[in-house]
Amino acid sequence: MVLIMLGAQGTGKGTVAGILNKKTGWPQISTGDIFRKHIAEKTELGVEANKYIASGNLVPDEITIPMVKARLEEEDAKEGAILDGFPRTLAQAQKLDEILAEQNRKVELVINLTTPSEEIITRILNRRVCSNQACKATYNLTMHPSKVEGICDKCGSKLVQREDDSNAESIQRRLDIYEEKTKPLVDFYNNKGVITTQEVSEKINRLGQDVAEEIYEKYIKK
Ligand code: ADP
Ligand code: ZN
Repeated sequence: MVLIMLGAQGTGKGTVAGILNKKTGWPQISTGDIFRKHIAEKTELGVEANKYIASGNLVPDEITIPMVKARLEEEDAKEGAILDGFPRTLAQAQKLDEILAEQNRKVELVINLTTPSEEIITRILNRRVCSNQACKATYNLTMHPSKVEGICDKCGSKLVQREDDSNAESIQRRLDIYEEKTKPLVDFYNNKGVITTQEVSEKINRLGQDVAEEIYEKYIKK
């Protein structure tokens, strides 16, 4: 099953995708994580992509689309894939349909996460990620802290704040781009009848973990 995580920054897409990956074995394909790996390894793609990422802008489609296409063609993605961070524009969504059609498959489920705007900025500012590229666990200083401050529970590596999470300007820029370019995808997938919208919010005591369990039982488990 090809599944897409949709929702603004800080809504918990990565958390839900990570849990569903464990339950299904389908890879979590996070374009942001792939870019960050390239940046850490200083590949040509990484150097180019970082020009956009550091300021909170979208990486051009000429770079992003072939990268996703190649990843979807890998052996481990044949059974299913959990796309996290792609597509982010209508053009990318249309391109994805073409790529999947070539592989005789299509988007079957879109999980759209929503979080009240007053919670979003705090969630992003409090986000910490494992610096170990092979682990990439994410934490939140208040909602989901690590057992030892600054150290990953899973692998013992240092926790860091993403460069684009530490600066209010780049956070706002990403949220603005989300509103303008990514939100229209909700209608696009609504018209296809494949979307489910789920609220993630501390106020209603419903976090990514709860949503992942529910979605799995309702839409994925056979
Ligand atoms: P966030 O959702 O918090 O912005 P991501 O890890 O998903 O974080 O993405 C980090 C950055 O990587 C984005 O701000 C953007 O620059 C780039 N990026 C990720 N996915 C895409 C995409 N589908 N198209 C273009 N750029 C992308
Ligand atoms: Zn770790």
